[in-house]
Amino acid sequence: MRRVLILGGTAEARALAAELVERGVQVTSSLAGRVSNPRLPVGEVREGGFGGPQGLAAWLEQERPDALVDATHPFAARMTASAVEAARLAEIPLLVLCRPGWPEMPGEVRVPSLEAAAAELAAGDRVFLTTGRRSLPVFSGLSGVCFLARSVDPPAPPIPPNVHIILGRGPYTLEGELALIDEYRLTVLVTKDSGGELTKAKLAAARERGLKVITVARPPLPEGVTHVETVEAALRGIGVA
Ligand code: NAP
Repeated sequence: MRRVLILGGTAEARALAAELVERGVQVTSSLAGRVSNPRLPVGEVREGGFGGPQGLAAWLEQERPDALVDATHPFAARMTASAVEAARLAEIPLLVLCRPGWPEMPGEVRVPSLEAAAAELAAGDRVFLTTGRRSLPVFSGLSGVCFLARSVDPPAPPIPPNVHIILGRGPYTLEGELALIDEYRLTVLVTKDSGGELTKAKLAAARERGLKVITVARPPLPEGVTHVETVEAALRGIGVA
């Protein structure tokens, strides 16, 4: 194993890059280029889309890495589908590294989409919205519902009047999340089932304060894909543990 392309944008992708570099593997990490000041992994970094599966396949054919690891966020379904198709076209082994989701909490409402999450909200709700700045249009038309939306970068204007934005990037603490809930008198948490440690304090805080929790379920992984849940398993999966 001499060279690996990691499709990144997650803490696991950065951790995997660090482990591989330490083992003398040449790593190229790919970022979508959406965040203005991304946390960068060690090793070589490229930014921006490839131009669909054909573009990624062309990159793989030209660079011929020994393996492709898709370590993108569990909700980055287009990139994962593209990785599957490109790996097939270029005949490069693909491993998907996808952290486990959060365990379902008693009383939590699991929904299949952002739209279904919006349909669960009612006038008077004060919602902690943590589904990302690009999801705001799905929610902001609801009358009588107020939102505190947290995102890494500011959303594109115009920001609807019923949405208050705070900027932030994990890790978050239980104390910090409780303080936000109290300050903004929040009554509902809307989250994706992202999994991982960096942003899970909001769930414990919501439980402690008795918020209604609405969780958007993950898109399924493509059929037949080889998938692991941890960085250690990914290292074993590509034969460098
Ligand atoms: P997406 O909808 O699955 O991808 C849309 C397009 O963005 C892809 O088709 C691809 O363009 C490009 N792209 C995505 N990830 C890329 C990567 N790592 N390297 C190069 N191009 C990439 O993805 P998304 O949900 O917008 O997520 C974008 C990035 O943010 C990902 O890297 C993901 O790990 C990270 N992220 C996403 C979330 C989330 O909630 N979705 C949360 C945290 C971090 P082409 O088709 O042109 O190749």
